Order: sequence, then C-alpha cells, then structure tokens
Amino acid sequence: MDKQFFTLYNGLKIPAIGFGTWQIKNDIVKDACLTALKEGYRHIDTAKAYGNEKGVGESLKECGLTREDVFITSKIPAEIKDYEDAKRCIRESLELLDTKYIDLMLIHAPRPWEEMANRNGHRYFKENIEVYRALEEAFEEGLLKSIGVSNFDIDDLNNIIKNNKIKPMVNQICIFAGCTPTDLIDYCKNNNILVEAYSPLATGRLFDKPLIIDMAKKYNVSIAKLAIRYCYQLDTLPLPKSITPSRIKENLDIFDFEISEEDMKILKNISF
Ligand code: NAP
Repeated sequence: MDKQFFTLYNGLKIPAIGFGTWQIKNDIVKDACLTALKEGYRHIDTAKAYGNEKGVGESLKECGLTREDVFITSKIPAEIKDYEDAKRCIRESLELLDTKYIDLMLIHAPRPWEEMANRNGHRYFKENIEVYRALEEAFEEGLLKSIGVSNFDIDDLNNIIKNNKIKPMVNQICIFAGCTPTDLIDYCKNNNILVEAYSPLATGRLFDKPLIIDMAKKYNVSIAKLAIRYCYQLDTLPLPKSITPSRIKENLDIFDFEISEEDMKILKNISF
C-alpha cells in the first residue's frame, strides 16, 4: 500500500503530500488552507517570504483540528544570513503563525535570491553555518520539531553536514517531470535527508506539454495527478499549490494508480 507519511531520520512523521502556499496572498490563504484541510491535507508549506504566515495560522485555529494534527513548514528568508537575524525570524514566524512550535523550519535558499544563479560568486558557506546554528538551537529548545534546508546543492549540504551538529532532515528542491536533479536526490537519500518536491506542476507550465498530456490520457488521470504522482514515486514529497477548490481536492488524490518503471524513466529524462 502507498505510504501516507514519510518519516524523517529523527522519527518525525510528515504527511506525504503538502499544500503549497507560495503566491497565495495573506487575505485569501486562510480560505485556501481551510479548503485543503477539509479535503484531507494535513501538511501546509509556507515561508516568511510568502507574507502569508498569519493567514495560515488563522486557518489552523479555525479548522477544527488540533495543532498536532497538522504539519506546518516555514522558512527563514534567503536574504537572512546571520545568526541574530535568523533567531529573530524564527520568533517572528512563531508569532505570525501563532503557534508554540513549527514542525519544520528551513533555510529558504543558500544564497539571497538575487545571487542564486551565480554559483561562482560568494557562496555564503560561513553565513549558512550561522543561520543553521539558530535553527539547531530552536530545535533543541523544542520550538522547531525538525530543521532543514531548501534549494541547497551537494556542496551547500556538505558544508552544513561537516560544520554543524545536526544534519539537515529535509532538502526542499524544485522537481517536476522535465526537471529531475538525480545526483542531488541520490545524495540526499544516501544521507537520510528527505527530499521535498516543490513546483511539482512546474508552477503551471506542465499543462501544455504533449508528452505529459498523452501519458496522462494513457493512465486515464489528469495531468496534475500524473505530475504529482511522478514526484511521489521518486520517493520525494510533493508540494502542489492551488487556490481552486476542485484542484485542491484533485491534487491529493494520487493513490489510485501507479506509473510504470518505463514511464517513470521517460518522465525523468524528458526536457522541454
Ligand atoms: P505548482 O504546484 O507547481 O503549480 C501551481 C500552478 O498550477 C497554479 O497556477 C495552479 O493554479 C495550477 N494548478 C494546480 N493544480 C492544478 C490542477 N489540478 N489542474 C490544473 N492546474 C492546476 O506551483 P508552485 O507554487 O511553484 O509550487 C508549489 C509549492 O512549492 C509552493 O506553493 C511553495 O509552497 C513551494 N515552493 C517552494 C520554493 C522554495 O524555494 N522552497 C519555490 C517554489 C515553490 P491555481 O492556483 O489557479 O488553481
């Protein structure tokens, strides 16, 4: 049977599909999250940079579930690169979400967004050790149930593994059919780091790709279901986003079919 949870190396269980909230404004995110929670999502992905933690927190209060029932992820902004600022951001996220703890907190990116494309520029290795140290302390205080990173390459991860105390539990990276960073995924798996797949629908750009359209027809499923199932079968945790109630429901419903090994290879190797 398909697993409904992934388990982090510290034993924490994390629901196998997360509800993405990037680009959902704070004034509508509460309703989107309430719909998602009503449909059965138990995992919401937000970030300080999305500006919607307050609304996400309100949905937690209004959904009728207990805090323990819902797994919440947030992120320290990519531009925050020192220890004190990182500590402040963790406190602010706790306040905005209005919660005693956050289930998973990530460093949003190894470099500020403006510098992300430039792997040959300043790499922020020393700074990331300090930001991650703030995560480690909050983890040890019980304010964060798990900690990790996002958009980290192998050398960024190695830097943390070598120089910090607690190995990241998660690396959240961009994965969709047509964008499958196999070496990085394998590296994470070999180190027991759970890989989360963000933008599993390529932020909406997968829907006009003939190969994907044909394969979805073959399995008699929607394109979104095929794409989300692809990430899941890579053993990575998909984080689809939608503000449309029917799509929110559809994106959770990926457990009634299986993509063959042959088709997984095709999806892994396509490029657009
Ligand atoms: P995505 O989930 O790849 O795609 C979302 C787009 O697809 C929206 O335009 C949505 O439209 C549409 N869509 C969703 N379900 C659909 C369906 N069943 N049928 C047709 N269209 C559908 O988008 P994403 O926001 O880039 O990624 C998902 C989440 O990953 C984010 O929300 C965020 O939580 C996370 N993320 C993290 C990072 C990072 O740096 N760590 C970066 C990007 C994303 P509607 O909303 O209009 O329905």
